[in-house]
Amino acid sequence: MDAAAMVIDPTRFAREGARLTGVLTPAQLPRLADVLADEQGAVKYLVEGHMTAEAEPALRIELAVDVGVRCQRCLERLPLHLEVRRDIVLAADASELDAADDEDEDIDVIPAVARLDLLDLIEQEVVLGLPMAPRHADDACGPRPEGEANKTSSPFSVLAELKRH
Ligand SMILES: [Zn+2]
Repeated sequence: MDAAAMVIDPTRFAREGARLTGVLTPAQLPRLADVLADEQGAVKYLVEGHMTAEAEPALRIELAVDVGVRCQRCLERLPLHLEVRRDIVLAADASELDAADDEDEDIDVIPAVARLDLLDLIEQEVVLGLPMAPRHADDACGPRPEGEANKTSSPFSVLAELKRH
């Protein structure tokens, strides 16, 4: 996907009921890549324009993210799957921005700008969706050095050690 094609006029996009779908790599999303363990993975996106019941232009964003973050316990790579779904209403009037504060968390209201960079928006949604302190499941951390792990954790290796003497 050409990066320039990711800049849209969101109001027109919504009115036309346009749809954009594709796959991005972390390398295309530098702010995201910064907080990942590596650049492996993919961000699948679907952006769909529609009009709300109140006849306001809106975008629905759906993301399926597969990336590797760093485990805060062992610092090894932790594969992460994330689904993000967000509705963004484009407010022509700035007073709507405040009014929307108390409403549904999955709905964002942003000013109806003339140009919106979807790459930026997708990147932001993924970064916000990442867990603050990702960790492997208990006992799933690793890898520890092989020999050492066996010596300390397996009762059988202790037994074998005793028999030998
Ligand atoms: Zn870990």
